[in-house]
Amino acid sequence: MNANDCLKSMGLDPKNFEKGDLTVTSPIDGAVIGKVRQDTAATLDKKIAVAAKAFEQWKVTPAPVRGELVRLLGEQLRTHKDALGRLVTLENGKLLQEGLGEVQEMIDICDFAVGLSRQLYGLTIASERPGHAMRENWHPLGVVGVISAFNFPVAVWAWNAALALVCGDPVIWKPSDKTPITAIATQHLFESAAKKFGQAPQGLSQLAICGREIASAMVEDPRVKLISATGSTAMGRIVGPAVARRFGSTILELGGNNAIIVAPSADLNLALGGILFGAVGTCGQRCTSTRRLLVHKDIYDKFIPRLKKAYASIMIGNPLEDGVLVGPLIDEGAFNDMEAALKAAKAEGGKITGGGRTLQNEYPGGYYVQPAIVEMSEQTAIVHDETFAPILYVMKYKSFDQALAMQNAVPQGLSSAIFTNDVREAERFTSAAGSDCGIANVNIGTSGAEIGGAFGGEKETGGGREAGSDSWKAYMRRSTSTVNYSSDLPLAQGIKFDLD
Ligand code: NAD
Repeated sequence: MNANDCLKSMGLDPKNFEKGDLTVTSPIDGAVIGKVRQDTAATLDKKIAVAAKAFEQWKVTPAPVRGELVRLLGEQLRTHKDALGRLVTLENGKLLQEGLGEVQEMIDICDFAVGLSRQLYGLTIASERPGHAMRENWHPLGVVGVISAFNFPVAVWAWNAALALVCGDPVIWKPSDKTPITAIATQHLFESAAKKFGQAPQGLSQLAICGREIASAMVEDPRVKLISATGSTAMGRIVGPAVARRFGSTILELGGNNAIIVAPSADLNLALGGILFGAVGTCGQRCTSTRRLLVHKDIYDKFIPRLKKAYASIMIGNPLEDGVLVGPLIDEGAFNDMEAALKAAKAEGGKITGGGRTLQNEYPGGYYVQPAIVEMSEQTAIVHDETFAPILYVMKYKSFDQALAMQNAVPQGLSSAIFTNDVREAERFTSAAGSDCGIANVNIGTSGAEIGGAFGGEKETGGGREAGSDSWKAYMRRSTSTVNYSSDLPLAQGIKFDLD
């Protein structure tokens, strides 16, 4: 199935992808997949107005009814999982199994949100005044703007949209300009679900296909109450303050620099699998990819040769083919970033195994690389940066305190893990005195996460949380209501007003 077949099987006409000002190529071989038309400032402004109008109807639609639309969206995704998953692989270059897995995450979050639509609970709170009742209400927030990165071209929208929709909020989605076609396909599936549902206001979910200049109008628009932005820390540094200036809300899901600690008591087979998947999976292009490895000095010489051997056996190639574990980087820019980081690491004393371009004869338009292991004597400047490519910086540690300090010493705070069989280390790692990341795992790697938990990170990762747990609260506004059912009016602080 090529891209056109995928589009057709989802009910889209490939002819609509023949004209447009944005050309989309596949990272697999650089071939053009299609062309799409981009929004202008005027069309985006109109879309925001339509979304704001949709909010008036959607916010008073009962939440369980809103849940029914999300259930139907999940049904569409189930039906078209194969086509959408393959399209993700064609447009983004991740393994077919990962493309399908991404669509499965969309289905899972729809299921989660359907249940949630009957559980948007507020608290009842004991009032200090006689004859009074106090409670919290959770109300729809308003239009939600979703900005997503290329590496999860559809799942990130679903984590946000499924929750936003049951919470009563319309969504405008600005996908990465590297992956707009999967976004158009997803929007089409939403529209099919909305048609079946029959009661959705026009413009409940819309796309804004545009670059950052046009997108900044959405970021700065007070009609958009929440901006949920996933991407680099550099993007968050612009988007965060722009939304704050107008007192809007943000969920920022930014860069990670995730470490795994391998303790002397670790099950090394488990650790090897966790590190390999985390460091080379998705060609190092996950926000949760393992970028740093801290190995205890007593096992370093035994373990690192095993890791290098495992690296040497990895099959790199076309992500649609069986057996391939590492596909291409997204584009030439990503390859240049990897080369520059390796050069800097070498200048800072790093010993490099692997790295460099491969398969350029077979795929002159694709950027395939050998994943790199870089042994460093300390965490130098380059180790503090997130390079979105398969580079693993490996360092030795002497004491658990030192390993924890090294783990926490980078500016980012997304994911972290320890492999240990020492219960004291495991508990300390997950405690307040342990990892400072939003995700702290034991005997499982840094990469990926289940939708049931709140996903996100601290420090330069931005502090946002999406998906499971109580992340839904970010898509709603809270009001506190006090109801006086007595015949008295006791005032706060004992103040008495004489009304006679
Ligand atoms: P990017 O920052 O280049 O782009 C992300 C999105 O933001 C794109 O849609 C882009 O067009 C948009 N954008 C960029 N600047 C903008 C601006 N000034 N105003 C409005 N929109 C703007 O990131 P990328 O290369 O697509 O993705 C890789 C990055 O995303 C990595 O840093 C990775 O760690 C991060 N990421 C984080 C998470 C997370 O949950 N923490 C998840 C996925 C990816």
